Amino acid sequence: MPTPLAATWNQCLALITNEIPRRSFKTWFEQVDPVSLNRDEEGGAELVLSVPSRFFGEWIESNYAGVLRKVTSEVVGQDTRIFFAYEKNAPEPAHVTNIEMETPAAARPPAPVAPMQPTPPRPAVPPQSAALGSGHASPGRQAPVDPNLRPGYTFDTFIEGECNRFARSAAQAIARQPGGTSFNPFLVYGGVGLGKTHLVQAIGNHARANGTAERILYISSEQFISQFVRAIQQNNVAAFSSFYRGVDLLVVDDIQFLSGKEKTQEEFFHVFNTLHQTGKQIVLCSDRPPSEIKGIEERLLSRFQWGLTADVQPADLETRCAILQGKAEKHGLVLEPDVVAFIAEHVTQNIRALEGALTRLVAHAQLDGGRITLSVARGLLSGLVDNEPKPVSIESIQTIVAELINIPIAQLSARTRTRDVVTARHLAMYFSKEMTTNSLKSIGLRFGGRDHSTVIHACNAVTDRMDVDAEFRDLVDEARSAIERKARV
Ligand code: ADP
Ligand code: MG
Repeated sequence: MPTPLAATWNQCLALITNEIPRRSFKTWFEQVDPVSLNRDEEGGAELVLSVPSRFFGEWIESNYAGVLRKVTSEVVGQDTRIFFAYEKNAPEPAHVTNIEMETPAAARPPAPVAPMQPTPPRPAVPPQSAALGSGHASPGRQAPVDPNLRPGYTFDTFIEGECNRFARSAAQAIARQPGGTSFNPFLVYGGVGLGKTHLVQAIGNHARANGTAERILYISSEQFISQFVRAIQQNNVAAFSSFYRGVDLLVVDDIQFLSGKEKTQEEFFHVFNTLHQTGKQIVLCSDRPPSEIKGIEERLLSRFQWGLTADVQPADLETRCAILQGKAEKHGLVLEPDVVAFIAEHVTQNIRALEGALTRLVAHAQLDGGRITLSVARGLLSGLVDNEPKPVSIESIQTIVAELINIPIAQLSARTRTRDVVTARHLAMYFSKEMTTNSLKSIGLRFGGRDHSTVIHACNAVTDRMDVDAEFRDLVDEARSAIERKARV
């Protein structure tokens, strides 16, 4: 039978599962254990929970204080104060055995859940201990490392959305105290162009700007492999090895490329162990979840999952709009909301493609000094845009409209002024303006060499009539969908 304390906590957990997403629950509450529950005479209670690290408690405090308060007031009692106890200096995730309690009665009471306590800044990581390196990598004499970071890849420029919220907050927490959270290693995975590299570099840039880590290094696993191969050829493996063991924050991108590289994997295994044991932060990216990476040794794969694994998903429409807007502004380009929405609706597969689209618009704006209207955007992006059918041609619009109204197509360019022909001509001109990027002048030319003002007149005639004639509106809709269906193939 569970102890009363365990039973009480289990009841709390059961309620918490109803309140927060399953993934958050697994990450944050599965590692919490009840330590004690003391009730006082006034009916209040004090619940002490053990967490793997100070950071962990702070995270729960700042994100789940409300939930915890609600749940404990139901299960334990209205006036329940909650304390977190953690093992000091714990770099390891979970499995806390000897909790060195910072008991409420001791000199420094741990923070109650409310009010929140600000996190004291962590001092910069001290120089390496002698155990980490030898030769040129000994403490005090370490050459500075070029972190290999792109300055633009910061948290500020990384737009948050549902798709990356979890990974982004974890990354920020890590950047504030590399090696000081239970997220070690931190593994981000997700498809190409979804922001993994940007996000992990943001950790490095933040740590660098704020001095939370001294020796920071971003490297792709391909670079790691080729450096290692060179080290072997040049009989330099010891130096290679001690260099990597002297890094405080190591970011290795695209670890899936380690696949099949057994020797490199073995070397990386040792580097990993040394860094992890000495509380140095390791950050990894992969294009798929670790369970799906083939050709990497089991012992390495299991280590990759020791800390926290977070995915980035394709961005939703809203996030894509926000990213696009942000990037456009950086280029000094003001985009109309309908243009932003159009691009974000059509360029869906990843953020890199979204940037490609933007580059075209920027070039157009700079070279042609052009304003970017919806049809300009449509024209510029045809072919690039996902699922975006080929642009409609005036000819196909003419064919479809003539067919719909049942007149010979040649009549559109003739001088005929019968009612049906005029309607058809107006409609075809109207759609040519709306659905193609042709100028009014060239539209007029394609309708028997008419003037551009005729085209304007036709467009106005259509919109005016739509305002007052419901049947005509239906005809316009029917024509539009016929064109969408047939012309864009
Ligand atoms: P991955 O490493 O997952 O293939 P990247 O990090 O290289 O993707 O991202 C591709 C491009 O998209 C980069 O230029 C990056 O700045 C941009 N990007 C991705 N996600 C975001 C985001 N959430 N906010 C702003 N830019 C983003
Ligand atoms: Mg990448």
